[in-house]
Amino acid sequence: MDHLYPPALAEDWDAIGAVCGDLQAPVSRILFAVDPHPEVIEEAISVSADLIITHHPLLLTPVHDVSTRTTTGRTVHRLISHNIALFTAHTNADSAAEGVSDALARVLGVSDAVPLSSGATAEVGLGRIGRLETPVSLAEFADRVAAQLPLTAHGVRVAGDPVRLVTTVAVCGGSGDSFLTDAAAQHADVYVTADLKHHRTLDHLSDSDTAVIDVAHWASEWPWLAVVAQRLTTELNTQGDTVEALVSTIVTDPWTFHLSGGAEVKPDVRSSP
Ligand SMILES: [Zn+2]
Repeated sequence: MDHLYPPALAEDWDAIGAVCGDLQAPVSRILFAVDPHPEVIEEAISVSADLIITHHPLLLTPVHDVSTRTTTGRTVHRLISHNIALFTAHTNADSAAEGVSDALARVLGVSDAVPLSSGATAEVGLGRIGRLETPVSLAEFADRVAAQLPLTAHGVRVAGDPVRLVTTVAVCGGSGDSFLTDAAAQHADVYVTADLKHHRTLDHLSDSDTAVIDVAHWASEWPWLAVVAQRLTTELNTQGDTVEALVSTIVTDPWTFHLSGGAEVKPDVRSSP
């Protein structure tokens, strides 16, 4: 994993690599997941995985105990008592080639993708920007996003003219609002990311022509799991090792349902008597 997604590419605030597990224990089955969520740990136990590789860290912020008082503590206990190791590739997997944003770009049909973030070098950096071989309308592209990413209650939210043509596409798996300006500066027709907030998005749309598609954070990172599973098993095969890799099917997006209705907004004019 360190060869495929070098730890040096991680942001300095990040917590990556081995989280728990006996480093000498053999591994024959690996479960890949976005989140080290309790349901994912139970899935690993049920499929007899020896190792879980997640994108998000279990222990990103400091903790003072791992007793069963907290979900994090219970997770550590559950892992150790079932001899399951946990390993995390987070922002190093965002920046590296064949990483999270590359995987997102690929499932959306974006080719020749290069890093989006300013200051990125060669193949390495956050986000990706590339082109569709055949331009489509924003509405058609949004349909593609909805069809290619796993189903969530969050769904796909779009800001932009549905009939505008989309050729240049910027993406960032996970929370990508900090690259809105990069997407606009590089004249992306649309930017696909997650966790966009009201003010930032409204200001962006006033200042640029780049449409925005907001998807579930979990869904935007999920396409990478199949990529890393394939790459790691291939890498281990070339070394003569055989492991089995499974991609988690547990949806760990936190939202459970979504209502699209609402009260009609009518003019409300009051005058003093
Ligand atoms: Zn994320």
